Amino acid sequence: SPALLEVTGLKTWFDSKEQPYKAVDGIDFRIHQGETFALLGESGCGKSISALSLMRLNPYPASRIVAGEVKLDGEDLLKLSEANMESVRGRRVAMIFQEPQSSLNPVLTIGQQIGETLRWHFKLSSQEVQQRSLKLLDSVGIPDPLRRLKDYPHQLSGGMKQRVMIAMALAGEPELLIADEPTTALDVTIQAQILDLLKQIQRDTGMAILLITHDLGVAAQMADQIAVMYAGQIVEQADRQTFFANPQHPYAQKLFEALPSEQKREQRLTVIKGNVPPLNQHFVGCRFADRCDHAWEHCQQHEPRWIEANQAGVRCHLYDSAVVSSKIETIKPL
Ligand code: SF4
Ligand code: MG
Repeated sequence: SPALLEVTGLKTWFDSKEQPYKAVDGIDFRIHQGETFALLGESGCGKSISALSLMRLNPYPASRIVAGEVKLDGEDLLKLSEANMESVRGRRVAMIFQEPQSSLNPVLTIGQQIGETLRWHFKLSSQEVQQRSLKLLDSVGIPDPLRRLKDYPHQLSGGMKQRVMIAMALAGEPELLIADEPTTALDVTIQAQILDLLKQIQRDTGMAILLITHDLGVAAQMADQIAVMYAGQIVEQADRQTFFANPQHPYAQKLFEALPSEQKREQRLTVIKGNVPPLNQHFVGCRFADRCDHAWEHCQQHEPRWIEANQAGVRCHLYDSAVVSSKIETIKPL
């Protein structure tokens, strides 16, 4: 079936006095209806900027989408007028973030905020707004929704706030929900409940989910497809089973090695030695070369191609048979 979302060659750069900072530097992926696609990687790899770029919400004035296509049902969102784009946001593609706190207005009740969102998307009488609001709160598992409509955000727990944010995201009946670290700020039990809720909503509505996460456990629980991002590029993509059975890129393998004990789970993916390279340089070789145990001279001088290998795609010379055979030739026999 054709993809719901098809991203091709997307680049989002930040202008600077010298070289531009290439936060997203040519990514390709597709998401199908009803599917969960995870973008996985350390912070600073370009995951959030990629997600915001799909909505044409660039977080900093100096950032620009410089190339690529973002096709939703075959229509390139990057070519839409800003007015047409406004009718895509929330209505066809909605987004939730890590901190529900910062997205809710502290001086408006939950009912006022959901109502405002509903009226933004649809022409509704106040009675219809009330009915739909109650239904939305119920669908995200908020008990006693009638009473909750009169509550202010500060009267809700973190988990409840995230449920309200999900209800608001669902108000426009989107085809695609972008969830950027939706459970990172929540404790483990609440995190599991919110992830279950997203899965249940997906089953009920057929909505696709683009999940941004730094947490392998969350990706394992949620994703049908996984793409690993490193330094503005996708370095590996596979379906969940293939990926967890056999991560191929040396960076992906390091993510697994770095998994700490359960108690330190919030530190996941942050303990690999070294740093993501500064993205305002002119890259010649592999962006992971400085942190890679398998790097050889060739890696410093040549950018790896995207290679299809073992039911996955991977950006690493080790899987490029042409490169590897020339490497073997240079090893002199004893
Ligand atoms: Fe490591 Fe070379 Fe593969 Fe880059 S291309 S990940 S440096 S082996
Ligand atoms: Mg982020």
